[in-house]
Amino acid sequence: MNFIIEPPAQPFLSINGSDQKFPVNRVFCVGRNYADHAREMGHDPDREPPFFFMKPADAVHDIGGKWEYPPQTENLHYECELVVYVSKSGKDIKIQDANTYVLGYGVGLDMTRRDLQGQAKKMGRPWEWGKSFDKSGPCGPIHLIDEGQPLVNAKIWLEVNGIEKQSGDISDLIWSVPEVISIISHSMELKAGDVIMTGTPSGVGPVVRGDKIHAGIDGLGEITTTVV
Ligand code: MN
Repeated sequence: MNFIIEPPAQPFLSINGSDQKFPVNRVFCVGRNYADHAREMGHDPDREPPFFFMKPADAVHDIGGKWEYPPQTENLHYECELVVYVSKSGKDIKIQDANTYVLGYGVGLDMTRRDLQGQAKKMGRPWEWGKSFDKSGPCGPIHLIDEGQPLVNAKIWLEVNGIEKQSGDISDLIWSVPEVISIISHSMELKAGDVIMTGTPSGVGPVVRGDKIHAGIDGLGEITTTVV
């Protein structure tokens, strides 16, 4: 192929216990997928169908020991999330088949410029400036699963400077992983390499430079980074 400029690098994530990398295609994020978080954001979780926003593929990256505070915000929030990695493409996927599309799971952060997101909400504008900035999705390594193996219960938590801020369980997801996969695939073709950030439990809040974020999901490892 004769590209007129150098093609951009393929974004990728590392895999636990493997030298292979996962090539990132698109990043779907589920909004308000834990009832207690929907309530803390001022919404009724019982009446809302799921909704989605997206981050660019290169927003997700292997989390390092340092994570750079982004520009143009004075209210940067953490959101700890279960992240799903898609192994193969499919349309109109049935809920009972959805687990066979999962390559693995991991822990990720949906970092959010809450002030910019809040302004956008108020004005009926898109969320990208709040949600989809550079490096807004630091992720831990992918934990591969046996094909079709469901993930039902797992504690999900996040600490800032050693103080617990978020604590929930994957079983509390309003829309489960198979439901989310099925719903996305009825609206557009799900593709191998897609990433799904499944939403955050309650307890979201701000971090500032110097804060240490430590988060994890049972069985899927822990991540640690310092905001600089
Ligand atoms: Mn989120």
